[in-house]
Amino acid sequence: MNLVRRPAGTATGHAVVLGAGIAGLCAARALSEVFDRVTLVERDALAEDGGTRRGVPQGAHVHSLTVRGAAVLDGFFPGFVGRLAADGAALVTALSEVDIVFFGSLLHKVPVGTVLQAGRPFLEDRLRAAVRALPNLAVLDDREAVAPLAAPGNARVVGVRLARPGGAGAAEDVDADLVVDAMGRAGRGAAWLGSLGYRKPVEQRLRVDVAYASRRYRIPPGAAGPGRALLVGATPARPRGLVLTQQEDDLWVLSLYGFGHPDHPPTDPAEFLRFAGELASGPIWDALRRAEPVTEVASFGYPHALRRHFHRLRRLPDGLVSTGDAICSLNPIYGAGMTVAALQAAALRECLAGGTRDLPRRFYRSAADALRLPWLFSTLADRSMPQVPGTRPALAALLGKSFRATMRAAATDAEVATAVWNAVSLTASPAALARPRVVAATLRNWPRRAQDSGS
Ligand SMILES: Cc1cc2nc3c(=O)[nH]c(=O)nc-3n(C[C@H](O)[C@H](O)[C@H](O)COP(=O)(O)OP(=O)(O)OC[C@H]3O[C@@H](n4cnc5c(N)ncnc54)[C@H](O)[C@@H]3O)c2cc1C
Repeated sequence: MNLVRRPAGTATGHAVVLGAGIAGLCAARALSEVFDRVTLVERDALAEDGGTRRGVPQGAHVHSLTVRGAAVLDGFFPGFVGRLAADGAALVTALSEVDIVFFGSLLHKVPVGTVLQAGRPFLEDRLRAAVRALPNLAVLDDREAVAPLAAPGNARVVGVRLARPGGAGAAEDVDADLVVDAMGRAGRGAAWLGSLGYRKPVEQRLRVDVAYASRRYRIPPGAAGPGRALLVGATPARPRGLVLTQQEDDLWVLSLYGFGHPDHPPTDPAEFLRFAGELASGPIWDALRRAEPVTEVASFGYPHALRRHFHRLRRLPDGLVSTGDAICSLNPIYGAGMTVAALQAAALRECLAGGTRDLPRRFYRSAADALRLPWLFSTLADRSMPQVPGTRPALAALLGKSFRATMRAAATDAEVATAVWNAVSLTASPAALARPRVVAATLRNWPRRAQDSGS
């Protein structure tokens, strides 16, 4: 693999990435092409045991990688997705293997590309192994980033202060030519800007109050038939959803979610299955009901989708950028977070090809371009739920009707189904949903009666 894409006269030196989640791992890969050394710092002690770790509690819940996300990871590490499949991960390559019910209608079977289905720890472990194999990369785990180090005047970040989690031992200062905050949605990078005398980015929040409950099962090979996944999305009238997917080594995950407290899924095992049974049917569900659970039911609360508008800041210090959930955290029910993290790393890679001058500003603009449509599409779907506050009821009802009509059309019309699938997979712009033929098909399926609108 040729790692050196460094154009003459551009970056050398040391880059430090804070956070070894998907965003940090992908960013480290991009940086390894242009910096002499890359250090990846992670607060958790990293074990290779495939378990859920403290810093990524969402790892117990479904974590599928979209077609676009799989392609970007393959671009960073050629053959990566194939190697995961050889190692036991499930690949979905035909919609005949998946039943997707969005807004009450079953999506017509159209060509899909490749979706990677694996547990988050499985995917992350293998991505981390690929990153660790980079010749100029070192991992410092069990270290917490606690503060930026800045040059006099704070015009440039020149390193980071690390401490052992829990405060044991002395702090250590690490010099860096570039520090990348990939510490997730908590927003340390944004707070650091404030501590250095800069404005913090405006935070846009959409309160969704989504809760998850998930459990993993072992289903014997063949017992679920040819299917590999069942997705039943929430509707305005029934704000509950379910994702049941095959993962590695004949393990399956059943994740349930709901908008708003009365619809949050239960963690009591019997109630958990009852909630699922109100949504699921078919051979995969029948197999799951007979299957052996291999974990307890795990829960996770997701209060709001979040976007930080770094790209609108007029003053930024050199030497510090944030990426991944630190910039944009989409409601996880759309399954796009890892993909947009990978897309931001791809944007970083392109920006670095132009050198490090004015890098933060160039990167944030480029990341904002990559995030605009996923954010718009997912928050419009969120706003169709009456449980999500802040949207006028008439607009929420209109959004609900239009998603319902589009999905009704997508149940039988291959062009509409392809446009929907491409939007969900982030392989093409959702603008295809505004093509005249697609709009006409949507209008033909517009709910006529109030009880038809799903709102
Ligand atoms: C319930 C749920 C289900 C999801 N399902 C999907 C899905 O199906 N598909 C999908 O694509 N996405 C999904 N996502 C989204 C996905 O988890 C994230 O968007 C994606 O992992 C990118 O996150 P990240 O790497 O930016 O941050 P994180 O994954 O949060 O990683 C941040 C890392 O930084 C470390 N860290 C934090 N603070 C410090 C510090 N001070 N010093 C050093 N290290 C630190 C943490 O330990 C962690 O390792 C889901 C999310 C949730 C909550």
